[in-house]
Amino acid sequence: LAQPRTVNAARLHASLADLAQIGATEGGGVTRLALSDEDRQARDLLCDWLRQAGLIPKCDDLGNISAVRAGREQGPPVLLGSHIDTVVRGGRFDGALGVLAALETLRTLDDLGIETRRPVGLVSWTNEEGVRFEPAMTSSGVVAGRFTAAYVHDRRDRNDHRFGDELRRIGYLGDPANRPSAAAYLELHIEQGPVLESLGLAAGAVGGIVGITWNEVTITGQADHAGPTPMPLRRDALTASAEIILGVERLARERDETAVATVGRISAQPNVINTIPGTVTFSVDFRHADPAVLEELVARLRALVDEVARRRSVIANVDRFWTSEPTPFDPGVLGAIRDAGAALGIELSELWSGAGHDAKYLAEICPAGMIFVRSRGGLSHCEAEFSDPADIEVGANLLLNTALALAEVA
Ligand SMILES: [Zn+2]
Repeated sequence: LAQPRTVNAARLHASLADLAQIGATEGGGVTRLALSDEDRQARDLLCDWLRQAGLIPKCDDLGNISAVRAGREQGPPVLLGSHIDTVVRGGRFDGALGVLAALETLRTLDDLGIETRRPVGLVSWTNEEGVRFEPAMTSSGVVAGRFTAAYVHDRRDRNDHRFGDELRRIGYLGDPANRPSAAAYLELHIEQGPVLESLGLAAGAVGGIVGITWNEVTITGQADHAGPTPMPLRRDALTASAEIILGVERLARERDETAVATVGRISAQPNVINTIPGTVTFSVDFRHADPAVLEELVARLRALVDEVARRRSVIANVDRFWTSEPTPFDPGVLGAIRDAGAALGIELSELWSGAGHDAKYLAEICPAGMIFVRSRGGLSHCEAEFSDPADIEVGANLLLNTALALAEVA
């Protein structure tokens, strides 16, 4: 193995702190919604930093910003990146870490005078979060061929502002010719979950992004007066739903330790104090790395719903309305991350991401992978989001050395 290189951690922490000033909230977090004035300021700063590093920032028709450090050979770069938009009152590290660790990687390559065979690039994807403009990950999605630019430009926020108009307003509507290409894609990100913390590890190699399937369950009983109707004669849609909801929790717990199931949304009709609920609808979100397990969980949900409905004389319907297939990351990229960990003397866990990332779409067009760093308390998308500076340094060093392996040091 080649001698591992290390980043300038102090410079990386300083850049993270500088970027976190833009959209800073009183609670120590960041609100930097996609295509807002804060997003523009953050983009301006990123482009300044890229120019100071001797690179030429390019902007495509989705506002994706990229820059490439030349290698000995022409061709698509080993692309490193993430996003700089945030949720409302989000944290300082979600997204920003991946972009600024990519910048730090490029700065370090210059500091050390390293020549690579393949070019190494940075990308900052527009609108990863999907908070202002749904859906999420629009702009990596266009590059991967999932959406058209016209579709994305027509997304509207709650104030009816168009994505395309806002992109032009902040001065980042660029040229389709500037869409980034990639020989491989690597994203450093905070874990946004408690697994690494529970294992006592600073970082992990991400095996892939779990599959998600969303269902809407509707239970129809009979609305009736809460007083005169004896218990045995009721067809209560809410008590039937309560049994099913507890059963959904059991389905995941009994399947295996990685399966998760969530009922996050429920509405009861007529939702008044002295009427037996007549109709209830609720959502069921299942996530797992194995598509066969997702199918099994949905089948068990249907069986559970049928059994409860029959016993309680209610009518039930399960509508499975959306599925995102699991995305395993490239074994070669995973291997390069593991090798970088070994060379740096860092113990790594392999874990799957329960949340979506731009790397999911990049995995459809090139070998892709992700590195996670520990999130304190597993928290993210909130002001309390925090990753220890030492963990961030570990993650950045993993990114640097994995990138060097993929780009092949001359
Ligand atoms: Zn993110």
